[in-house]
Amino acid sequence: MTSLWLDRPDLPETDTLPVDEELHDLVIGAGLTGLTTALLLARAGCRVAVVEARHVGALATGNTTAKLSLLQGTKLSTILQKQSHQVAQAYVDGNLEGQQWLVRFCADHDVPVQARDAITYAAEIHQVDAARSEHDAARSLGLDVQWHDDLDLPFPNHGGTVLPGQYQFDPVDVLTALASQVREHGGTIHEGHRVVSASKTGRPTVRLDDGTELSADDIVLATGTPILDRGFYFAKLEPLRSYALAFDFATTPLPMSLSAGQPSRSIRDVPRGDGTTKLMIGGNGHTVGRTDSEARHVDELREWTAKYFAGAVETHVWSAQDYQSHDGIPYVGKLPRGGGHIHVATGFDKWGMTNAVAAARNLTSSLLGEPVSWSKPMSRRITRPQGAAKIAELNLGVGVELAKGIVQAELQTAPESPPEGSGEVGRDGVLPTGVSTVDGRTCAVRAVCTHLGGILSWNDQEKSWDCPLHGSRFTPEGEVLEGPATRTLHRP
Ligand SMILES: Cc1cc2nc3c(=O)[nH]c(=O)nc-3n(C[C@H](O)[C@H](O)[C@H](O)COP(=O)(O)OP(=O)(O)OC[C@H]3O[C@@H](n4cnc5c(N)ncnc54)[C@H](O)[C@@H]3O)c2cc1C
Repeated sequence: MTSLWLDRPDLPETDTLPVDEELHDLVIGAGLTGLTTALLLARAGCRVAVVEARHVGALATGNTTAKLSLLQGTKLSTILQKQSHQVAQAYVDGNLEGQQWLVRFCADHDVPVQARDAITYAAEIHQVDAARSEHDAARSLGLDVQWHDDLDLPFPNHGGTVLPGQYQFDPVDVLTALASQVREHGGTIHEGHRVVSASKTGRPTVRLDDGTELSADDIVLATGTPILDRGFYFAKLEPLRSYALAFDFATTPLPMSLSAGQPSRSIRDVPRGDGTTKLMIGGNGHTVGRTDSEARHVDELREWTAKYFAGAVETHVWSAQDYQSHDGIPYVGKLPRGGGHIHVATGFDKWGMTNAVAAARNLTSSLLGEPVSWSKPMSRRITRPQGAAKIAELNLGVGVELAKGIVQAELQTAPESPPEGSGEVGRDGVLPTGVSTVDGRTCAVRAVCTHLGGILSWNDQEKSWDCPLHGSRFTPEGEVLEGPATRTLHRP
């Protein structure tokens, strides 16, 4: 489903592939991380090309809620449980730099930004401790948060912590300005080309889905989750899907609020150029592919909105995913066994508006030989027992889902033609097969993820095949949508 942000006619255009050109840097992925990285390198005089599988902003950045905030739900208290104070401080310093860079960039390029308070609130009495812990963590890390026992919000709450002077914007306005600046500084952007592999022998080289090869001095994987398995990031990241709805709703500016527990509720307003406003409600997320019905998560958000924002008229509904690292700190730097010239940036845990820019600053400043001050303390991150337990939990979940999928697929025969809008997995001979009907078209695919063999489950909201192991997603016809997979599904 198309997000409010991507529902516009003026998306950036594509350039012809730079085959045979001497590139300094090749950036894979045209989200906020990729385009900011490309711009910083192009501004420094590097010859840069961005290769994008779909279109600019196709995944998380074009489908985000775009709160540019240093108060990030319960993020800081979570990091402090798993990392030292020094590492947590480096996280805040990097995010502050990311936020300030983006606000400056928007001011310089006429991208509208609105200042708002950010709030982490207790939606239920049992969330008060989590909200209080976040307040204490934020204070200990130098953020000027204020505690309120009773917040003046149009929905029930048991108080929360407030950080004034944060920001929100339209992320596709930002991407459009970044793309135009990348080009103005000599960079190019190539949409519709999926990278399927990379080699580090000799000059780092990537292979595209049509067989074309491109090489550069350095390659940056800004693909959400890394598409190469070399660093085993897939085993240390949890793919989290969540939902968003936009409504026509006349309102004065709202603070950017997020509940301190599950089911999460994320609220912001969206001022429009014509003087009207929209209301955006998001959250209610889960691990990709691990729910009985994605559509139910959307219905719950609809019901909640109808209860507390009477008269709001729905205009857009969409969903997207981002990746949470085992200790809450993003993974940014050289890909293990990448020859020192393949770099990754991932694990932004739904806080990529600041983290993507921080990652771009971190990567490019080390490529250009002037590392940022907070990159050294960040590299002192160690996996403590709480972090190790999280990795074990992630992989136990993966094992359980794999076994569950195989057993379920064994139990029934693949249907010939499921009802419109649905998809079912069953056996066709000995192999798991997924059959779906969308827009009257029935389609069968091997329901086995081409990444690491997870049995796919049907996403009844997006009409896609989703992998409950590491978050790869595919169209009903088997084309890759996102995640670590790079190859289409097999056909029966
Ligand atoms: C529902 C939701 C709400 C969020 N709300 C907020 C918020 O309010 N505030 C905040 O700070 N953060 C938020 N986030 C997080 C934030 O949106 C992301 O962290 C950020 O956009 C990630 O940017 P990115 O450029 O790293 O990844 P993406 O925007 O996902 O870009 C990756 C790009 O790589 C491309 N790609 C992937 N594989 C390949 C390949 N093989 N070859 C070529 N290209 C490829 C993709 O097509 C995509 O365009 C939210 C996330 C979600 C899902």
